[in-house]
Amino acid sequence: MIIHMAEGASPEQTQRVIDRIWTDYGLHCETIVSATTVVGVKGITSYVDEGRILELPGVDRVIRITEKYKDASRNFHHEDTIVDVQGTPIGGPHLTMVGGPCAIESESQALESARMAKDAGVDVLRTFVDKSRTSPYDYRGLPLEQGLEIAQAMMAETGLPSVSELIDIRHLDAFLKAGISIIQIGARSAQYSPLLEELSRVDVPVILKHGFGNDMNEWLCAAAYIMSGIDREGRTVGSGNRKVILCYRGIKAFETETRFAADISMIPLVRTKSHLPLLADPSHSSGDRSLVERVAYAFVAAGAQGVEFDIHNNPEEALVDGKQAVNSEARRIVENARKIHAMLAGVGIETGSNAAGVPAG
Ligand code: PEP
Ligand code: MN
Repeated sequence: MIIHMAEGASPEQTQRVIDRIWTDYGLHCETIVSATTVVGVKGITSYVDEGRILELPGVDRVIRITEKYKDASRNFHHEDTIVDVQGTPIGGPHLTMVGGPCAIESESQALESARMAKDAGVDVLRTFVDKSRTSPYDYRGLPLEQGLEIAQAMMAETGLPSVSELIDIRHLDAFLKAGISIIQIGARSAQYSPLLEELSRVDVPVILKHGFGNDMNEWLCAAAYIMSGIDREGRTVGSGNRKVILCYRGIKAFETETRFAADISMIPLVRTKSHLPLLADPSHSSGDRSLVERVAYAFVAAGAQGVEFDIHNNPEEALVDGKQAVNSEARRIVENARKIHAMLAGVGIETGSNAAGVPAG
């Protein structure tokens, strides 16, 4: 980070900046005095609040040289990260298909949907117990204990690893005890710092959805925060949780015919900017079963390392998101997504850390 002092700034003003960087953030500075004074801040500057520095007298500009989301940035980690989920690799050259019902509604619905997802060939099963919904009045899932028991039955029935959304820190222990393989942070919680902080302290893979009001920088900062093991004051309190998987799902825009707006160019962009595995969700972005299949293929063609989508045994009767859940088409989606992925690998486009044109190593 570079702090550019205004013309005519006094040595005392420069010293005050250096002192603030040291006392507030524990970082050292180096100063170059020429026609104007430039202060370079050394070390990890993610926690330096540009606004607080700009407030000091004599400061003209604060320029960030490295991304705030250092731990998630490809500039600091060139190789693709591959997260291992009970023997299933996510990221790098792998394509991971994640599917299952939007939420567990009953034992029979969950088990039938799980069998359908397994038959379709998914690698990871959605076992969603509790949900954030667009309206809090909408169906949110079963009570925690009952839902987790069914989630366990879904895993036992299929032998697949699972992903469930965590909406409340107080549920984390129960999730871990139930053996949920991946914890998902939903779009509506994507910036909820207490949840991110808690997940930075556990050794369990996390899928971080893209908040639908967030830009890429905010999303990757949230991911980096889970990875960093640094607390709110910038102190290292643990090693952090490196097992972070991103999932793009579109943002709010003015179109009303689709549920959210998925910007396909975000996929190769995020692959370039971050080394973390990147999935994409065609169900929650498009909101309509008739669109899910092609959007899924588009995500894979654009470089997504996996697809997370809703599969329901009886979408017409679903209590949540039936309109966007696929049924028997799931198998075709999984098969074709794998073909598209393999085809791109065959022409040298999808080859792990080179996927976004970033040299390996
Ligand atoms: C989901 O995956 O079930 C979900 C609710 O997605 P999002 O958080 O992206 O809306
Ligand atoms: Mn849903």
